[in-house]
Amino acid sequence: MSEPLYPQTIGQQFGRRSWAEPWKIKMVEPIRLISRPERERALQEAGYNTFLLRSEDVYIDLLTDSGTSAMSDRQWAGLMLGDEAYAGSRNFYHLQDAVRTYYGYKYVVPTHQGRGAEHLISKALIRPGDIIPGNMYFTTTRLHQELAGGTFVDVIIDEAHDPSSEHPFKGNVDLDKLETLIKKVGAEKIPYVSLAGTVNMAGGQPVSMANVRALRELCQRYDIPIYLDATRMAENAYFIQTREPGYADKSIAAILKEFCSYTDGAWMSAKKDHLVNIGGWLAVNDESVLETARNLVVVYEGLHTYGGMSGRDMEALAIGIEEAVQDDHIRARVGQVHYLGELLTDWGIPIVQPVGGHAVFLDAKRFYPHIPQNEFPAQTLAAQLYLDSGIRSMERGVVSAGRDPETGDHRYPALELVRLTIPRRVYTQAHMDVTAEAVKAVYDARKQTRGLRMVYEPKYLRFFQARFEPLNKH
Ligand SMILES: *Cc1c(COP(=O)(O)O)cnc(C)c1O
Repeated sequence: MSEPLYPQTIGQQFGRRSWAEPWKIKMVEPIRLISRPERERALQEAGYNTFLLRSEDVYIDLLTDSGTSAMSDRQWAGLMLGDEAYAGSRNFYHLQDAVRTYYGYKYVVPTHQGRGAEHLISKALIRPGDIIPGNMYFTTTRLHQELAGGTFVDVIIDEAHDPSSEHPFKGNVDLDKLETLIKKVGAEKIPYVSLAGTVNMAGGQPVSMANVRALRELCQRYDIPIYLDATRMAENAYFIQTREPGYADKSIAAILKEFCSYTDGAWMSAKKDHLVNIGGWLAVNDESVLETARNLVVVYEGLHTYGGMSGRDMEALAIGIEEAVQDDHIRARVGQVHYLGELLTDWGIPIVQPVGGHAVFLDAKRFYPHIPQNEFPAQTLAAQLYLDSGIRSMERGVVSAGRDPETGDHRYPALELVRLTIPRRVYTQAHMDVTAEAVKAVYDARKQTRGLRMVYEPKYLRFFQARFEPLNKH
């Protein structure tokens, strides 16, 4: 598709302040900016990896939106209602009801966080040699699929790999790619399609309702189930509401439930959409899959009515599920992300367009065209941003992509990005202004910036703990 579905710019849709926060602040947590020499020392000690910085040394923390949201007064009150019984906690039933009400799946297995659920579903459904097609990989999702003996194959539309494509649904599955793959390997080799909404690694890009409906039809023909990474599906629903014809008058909750109805189950990192600091779940409709997942959860997570969470965690999560699908909440959440994106766009700074739901992604390849990918341009940019103003961001490029298990070489993804991830209900518009100005300062100094060399590399998920040194020391 070359014509965008939505003719308006983001600015026209929102106006600058139309998303003003639907909450007021009841408790504050002081933050402080340490001096430039202190930041230099902190970064050096962290091996130029923002994951290894101490939170105390960070001014505005945009590392991730995972577990960093502010809970509401209702959620905090919910913590006091924790039923800490080992088995059959009443909070589990509240959680199960909330998932059934808003996502529509029949059975719920709680887990300590998203990757716990990914582990269970991967182990339950994948046999060695299987192929798992999906709309772009996510780090922990793919790793669990690989550890279960499967091979992930990307079947996202080509536009997703092009940071300047304005396609409104860059998370869509390319149905031709998928059908070609099914014909090549055989449907019996494909335990499920791994669908994510929104697509984190593509820049928080959504999947359209039309696409998931067509995907369902295709998969039904080949008898292949669809499992959904629902981590940011509430945000995905917002993009359907604002961009897809026929959905403007439907609520986020209604859109979310319709979307899920085309899938057979989902896993969830509740640390994202659901506004809690820890938690996750797996939900399925198929009883035999439920049985396997329930057998596995007691081995890896905890009893099937707590799965690694305390009762109070499950209560806060159940309340968060309901808050996450409120239209005004989602509009303000995505609106804040878009406010930052608009400032950077206005200043000509290369970012992934259109701006996604949870983060603004800086395009490090266009930022630093003189730094080759094996000198880690995105890692470099994240380090520079911290040095400039104590803002913490995350690399999503060659370091995150890891090595090819067959050849041992770096995987060189088309997208070499730095993610400025906005926690939910935590920062104000003034923090976004400060962030935008810091990015601009780093951009203005880009020509003098040199890349990095990796000096320590862990075997799994290397981006978390890898260490680097600057290359400018000759
Ligand atoms: C965070 C995330 C996960 C993993 O969840 P955790 O709670 O961090 O274990 C899976 N999928 C997506 C899209 C995520 O963003």
